[in-house]
Amino acid sequence: MSRAINFSAGPAALPAEVLSQAAEEMLDWHGCGQSVMEMSHRGKEFISIAEAAEADLRELLAIPANYKVLFLQGGATLQFEMIPINLLCGKTSADYVSTGEWAKKAIKEARPFCDVNVIASSEDKNFSYAPGQSTWKLNKKAAYVHYTANETIGGVEFHWVPEVGDVPLVCDMSSNILSKPVDVAKYGLIYAGAQKNIGPAGLTIVIVRDDLIGKAVPTPPTMLDYKTHADNDSMFNTPPTYAIYIAGLVFKWLKRHGGLAAMQKKNIEKANFLYNYIDQSKFFHNPVRVTDRSRMNVPFTLQDEALDEEFLKGAKARGMVQLKGHRSVGGMRASIYNAMPIEGVQALVDYMREFEIKHGN
Ligand SMILES: *Cc1c(COP(=O)(O)O)cnc(C)c1O
Repeated sequence: MSRAINFSAGPAALPAEVLSQAAEEMLDWHGCGQSVMEMSHRGKEFISIAEAAEADLRELLAIPANYKVLFLQGGATLQFEMIPINLLCGKTSADYVSTGEWAKKAIKEARPFCDVNVIASSEDKNFSYAPGQSTWKLNKKAAYVHYTANETIGGVEFHWVPEVGDVPLVCDMSSNILSKPVDVAKYGLIYAGAQKNIGPAGLTIVIVRDDLIGKAVPTPPTMLDYKTHADNDSMFNTPPTYAIYIAGLVFKWLKRHGGLAAMQKKNIEKANFLYNYIDQSKFFHNPVRVTDRSRMNVPFTLQDEALDEEFLKGAKARGMVQLKGHRSVGGMRASIYNAMPIEGVQALVDYMREFEIKHGN
């Protein structure tokens, strides 16, 4: 068996240790004679799995006691709607920061529910930077402020936490959660689809401050009300049990490997290695402002896009897959989440160097 060096943006590579453990436990979890997939979500075995996953996530992110952790479905995309439904709290407007494809989607989905004020944007430069705090035109009457911590497609990441006063700060951390320590207390709500840096698709994690729960629009659809899920320990209906189990194994893996501070160090090292190569190269280019470059998703273009196909073919021959850029921007994108070892990034840079020597001028 050989494992590819997988640069997928999502669903993304998982740690081999985690997958091996899941394989070992596939037919018989801890001697109970069942796969986790076959268990009742209300049985003591699965309850113990879900409780451990939540406890480990709380430990990793040092989540304060006045925050609920919800294991939901519907992806980050459903949160684009659940956030206004739940957090408007009787107000009529919300502030949004527009930084790229994902922020734009969040904005579009919120518009039917409230007046969306786009209080800062990087559209003037093709979404190639994170708008500085001083440019944010915050509204005191906003129900919340929403921003996208890491634009998975554009490769733009906030390396700082915005200051928004008393208005709850809401953050889409789908593609950089668990990549570094985060001060959860600065946020009203954090959400993330699992398939980038947590586990399998199908699970969405929401971390929400207690006082923001139970204030949804009048008679909200039951499933779209955070209170439903908070009151039922995310088991109002059948949760995505297997995805929660794998996420739990990833949390244990993170703990074994030094937690989020150690991950951050590794992620900085990996990202620097790749950006340093790109920056000294005349053949490869990354368009993002240096201070705002993502440590998770590194988009880059070749000097001549006619060579894209050949680049991808050569990469594949070396065991490197899913480097093709998002259809909306073209070029390449290397996603280097927690599960990507430094050796994977080194292999990519070795290949890029070889390709540049052959094709550059
Ligand atoms: C992938 C992604 C989403 C969408 O997630 P789904 O789980 O497909 O709904 C939203 N925001 C960001 C930043 C993403 O990377």
